[in-house]
Amino acid sequence: MPLFLNRSTDTGAALADLFVIVRCDGGLGQATVNGQVDQVTYAKSVAGAGQDRIEALVGGTGNIVISAAPSGTLIPDGQGGTVPINLVGGVTFAPDANGIIQVAYCFDNRMFAFDTGGNRIEFPRSVILFHELAHAFHRANGSFNAGDPEFQAINDENAYRNQVGLTNRDPNNHDGGEGAGNGQAIPGCSGLAPGGGANGGCCTC
Ligand SMILES: [Zn+2]
Repeated sequence: MPLFLNRSTDTGAALADLFVIVRCDGGLGQATVNGQVDQVTYAKSVAGAGQDRIEALVGGTGNIVISAAPSGTLIPDGQGGTVPINLVGGVTFAPDANGIIQVAYCFDNRMFAFDTGGNRIEFPRSVILFHELAHAFHRANGSFNAGDPEFQAINDENAYRNQVGLTNRDPNNHDGGEGAGNGQAIPGCSGLAPGGGANGGCCTC
C-alpha cells in the first residue's frame, strides 16, 4: 500500500504528523512522483504501533493519498451535503474508480473525543490522521469492517494512544468535536524533522 501526500494540500503538515506517529524515527521521507503527489518513504528502525502501521502502509500494494486540510475545508457529509472538516476531524473515502483511497484530515484544530467513562479526551492531529489511516489500511488490505468501521478504527487508534500514553477512546462512541479534551499531550520526540511548509516541523503536537 504505497502512501502518498497530495501536493495541492500541506504536505509539510502531513509529513510532520507522520513523523510524530513514527515517534521521530529517522527513516521517514518523501519523494516527488509527479505534480500531484509525493510518495512517503520509510525504513523502520524501531517497532511500535505507530511505526508498524506506517511501515505497513508504505510497503503494501494499494494506493492511499493523504490530504492535510485546514479548518474550513468542506468535505462531503455523507448525506449529499458538505461539512467543514474541523467539525469532524477527518474522512476516508472508499476506493475510487482507479482504486485510490483518499484520506483527508484537519491539522490545525483542537478536537476532543470520549473515553469509556464519557469524559472528554484529547484528539490530537496525529491521532486523527492515525485514525483515518486505520480506515484506509483496512480498506486497502481487505479487512475493512463494513458493519462497524468506527469500532475497528478506534481500536487501532487506541494502540497508538497506548504507545504515546493518551487515555484510550471508547470504541463504541464515535462522537467528538471542536474544543479541549483532558489536557493530555503526546510526548515530544527528537530527531531530524522532515522539511516542509509552514506547518511542518516536529514534535510538539
Ligand atoms: Zn472513523
